[in-house]
Amino acid sequence: MAEAPEHVECLIIGSGPAGYTAAIYAARADMKPVLYEGMQPGGQLTITTDVENYPGYPDGIMGPEMMDNFKKQAVRLGTDVRFGMVTKVDFSEEGKHRVWVDGSTEIIAESVIISTGASARWLGIESETRLNGSGVSACAVCDGFFYRGMDVAIVGGGDTAAEEASYLAKICNKVYMLVRRDEMRASKAMQHRVENTPNIEILWNSETDEILGDTVVEAVRVHNIQTGEKMEFPISGFFVAIGHTPNTDIFKGFIDMDDQGYIITKPDSSKTNIPGVFACGDAQDKIYRQAVTAAGSGCMAALDAERYLSHRKSVPA
Ligand code: NDP
Repeated sequence: MAEAPEHVECLIIGSGPAGYTAAIYAARADMKPVLYEGMQPGGQLTITTDVENYPGYPDGIMGPEMMDNFKKQAVRLGTDVRFGMVTKVDFSEEGKHRVWVDGSTEIIAESVIISTGASARWLGIESETRLNGSGVSACAVCDGFFYRGMDVAIVGGGDTAAEEASYLAKICNKVYMLVRRDEMRASKAMQHRVENTPNIEILWNSETDEILGDTVVEAVRVHNIQTGEKMEFPISGFFVAIGHTPNTDIFKGFIDMDDQGYIITKPDSSKTNIPGVFACGDAQDKIYRQAVTAAGSGCMAALDAERYLSHRKSVPA
């Protein structure tokens, strides 16, 4: 006979800064949160090195260590942190949100906080994976500082790539922007800005063949897709800005999302279209995408969930 599903007051899905901050607040509010860590425990920060822009760490901190601290704080305050991946949900009955972990274990949650984050898109070449964290990064704001005065390259032609190229241009000596077509997807204003920044060189119709270097990035080899011409130039940092994908597939059909899959929350809140289901962090934010903003929205989600649960308790069913 199948085991009866476990009942949980507050279920948190995802273990980045948003999820752990929600857990810290939910635990302190006695909501007995259960948090499932997901596929990448600790989230995107576990693949970065130094974090220098999170307030409270005057000397910076390594990304994995910071996430370990988030976890320790959430556990110390009473969060039940579990290793496991939520694979399916059914949010059709209010107050009885059904969630399946690792394909089988069923949980019934009174409230759910979605903090599943987003994943950077990557080019998919071998050297990109090998040198990730050793010169290859998907976040200029996080890692650009380490390349002060050096030459770097950034791939992409959207608003993120254009914005990050401008950001890098203020720090670095030279920025090569590798755009795969002969035009950019970025807004005209952003295009204008990069085209008028003297130390940004745009290489049109350019595709990356390989990032070169044994242990750190030393150069990049690209080819022009129209002429076939190959070019190799020395760089110290290689940034990938070809978009992010929110990790929200399992919620499709229940939760309202925009056309890119980002969860839509009601203005000035973390409420989704389903009462009792809240969203925070990069799964719902495509604009700021910073650890500190994710943590702030995780706090909002826990406060919203607490109010929701208190209201349910005070109003007879
Ligand atoms: P986008 O999807 O808008 O752009 C992705 C870019 O990467 C495109 O230029 C695309 O090329 C290119 N690309 C995709 N795959 C590859 C590949 N394999 N190799 C090389 N290039 C590739 O993503 P963004 O992250 O830039 O933006 C996401 C959303 O966020 C957009 O709606 C954007 O407007 C918004 N945004 C707004 C900002 C603002 O308003 N300040 C700032 C940042 C983002 P191609 O065009 O050929 O497909």
